[in-house]
Amino acid sequence: METRYREELMYIDGKECESVSGRWIDVENPSHIGTFAGRAPRANAEDVDRAVQAAYRAFPEWKKLRPQDRGILLDKIADEVEKIQEEIAYTIASENGNAIRTQARGEAKNGVDRFRYYSGLGTEIKGTTYPGPNNFLLYSRREPLGVVAGITPWNAPVQLAVAKMGAALLTGNTMVLKVASDAPLAAMRVAKTAAKLLPPGVLNVISGSGTECGDALCAHPLVAKISLTGSTDVGKSVLHHAADRVLNTTLELGGKNPVIVFEDVKIEKTAKGLIPGARIARQGQSCSSGSRVYVHRSIFEEFTQALAKEMSALKVGDACDEESYLGAISSKVQFDKVSGFIRRAQETPGVKMLCGGLPEAGSPLTEGYHVLPTVFTCENDDTFLSKLELFGPIIACIPFDTEEEAIKMANDTHYGLAAFVWSSDTGRAIRVAHSIDAGWVMVNGGGGQIQGHPYGGMKQSGLGREHCLEGMLESFTELKGVLVNLDYGK
Ligand code: NAP
Repeated sequence: METRYREELMYIDGKECESVSGRWIDVENPSHIGTFAGRAPRANAEDVDRAVQAAYRAFPEWKKLRPQDRGILLDKIADEVEKIQEEIAYTIASENGNAIRTQARGEAKNGVDRFRYYSGLGTEIKGTTYPGPNNFLLYSRREPLGVVAGITPWNAPVQLAVAKMGAALLTGNTMVLKVASDAPLAAMRVAKTAAKLLPPGVLNVISGSGTECGDALCAHPLVAKISLTGSTDVGKSVLHHAADRVLNTTLELGGKNPVIVFEDVKIEKTAKGLIPGARIARQGQSCSSGSRVYVHRSIFEEFTQALAKEMSALKVGDACDEESYLGAISSKVQFDKVSGFIRRAQETPGVKMLCGGLPEAGSPLTEGYHVLPTVFTCENDDTFLSKLELFGPIIACIPFDTEEEAIKMANDTHYGLAAFVWSSDTGRAIRVAHSIDAGWVMVNGGGGQIQGHPYGGMKQSGLGREHCLEGMLESFTELKGVLVNLDYGK
């Protein structure tokens, strides 16, 4: 499919619109520096107010619908998004550099699947009865919160936007979705496809910077809940707004995710498995990237060589090229950060680069924000490679001697999002999985989160859960207790 320049308008109160200021955000195509995937309006506080007011007006009627009927609408949305799935995949690839074959196409499909998942959960929005005195009926019910502010990042723009839309809307909330400035186009297209199938005001879609538009959204007095996926720093600033009004808030934040490789692993199979686990197909630009790898000292040399061999064989290129395993770093800002990390690592004592780095000057890869799949070995766990979220196709390997030491190093971080454990001794692998402070742990695999399974952060990686039934109920509804005196009419 041909990629083309996209201009996406916002969607407020049932109508497409530009921003009040008439300003735009240009979205660069990171595979071809200086070319543009499209543009989206640059909203400010006035646009935010219009969107929130519309969502607030739509709430009373929307919440009255039976959850199953809201589910039927989500199912129709899934059908419509499915029809444009391939176009969405190309838009993702051309705006954030994620390769079409290995990542963008899967993400577009995931968007459809997520709408379908939520569409079937209507009957689960239920309460319970409680024991009490015989002349009383005690029960609970799940009620929506009101206007949800959904704020999403650029790295999985469609998947994360759909997760918020599906859960918030099914449970009877209305929503203002603010997409990320670096990759707004595919998420806006999907969200507008959804919004057009819903009553006006139920779902409003805006684009604009975090400081100008995201901040105003979080501070708006009619917003009842904030659901943010983004960095830990932005999460903290959002929490300040939430604290002022004691708002229900869900935060899905950053991660610096450990991988533990024991001495009994199948070396080649595990080296291959680490690559999807480090999210190299997304240039490592994932909150769940397993990017610091603790390898038992007895296999360290053999394992790191095998990993470097696998990483060196990966094809880097234009995100829209079917041949590419990985595409480009999403933007100049991110590229400069990742390039800086690579240079800094090369100058760090005790750190050795086994493969990768930046493309050579004059290589066709320098036409985009490309970084080669990179493996570093580190003598110890004290370097920045073990501490910072790098968001590049970079794996740092550190040796360990004992299980206790590996767990200690894995937990030596303020993050607690994801972790991976590899061992042929399943008992040990499970024991270690239970000892790591992370909200999501994968044993003997490098895959991603599966819809319906809890995913979210401990420590500074987040608050609350989304993506699963329990998360949907906890994050997007209030549990109300009702107590009825049965003797009143006697
Ligand atoms: P980010 O800079 O925190 O931005 C996330 C979103 O928040 C964007 O829409 C951004 O707007 C907006 N924003 C920025 N400042 C804001 C403010 N003061 N008030 C309200 N909104 C504000 O994160 P990112 O660089 O887009 O995404 C990468 C980060 O997200 C990484 O740390 C990654 O680990 C994390 N992440 C976490 C998960 C998870 O499930 N835990 C999943 C994916 C990503 P603009 O960008 O338009 O300015």
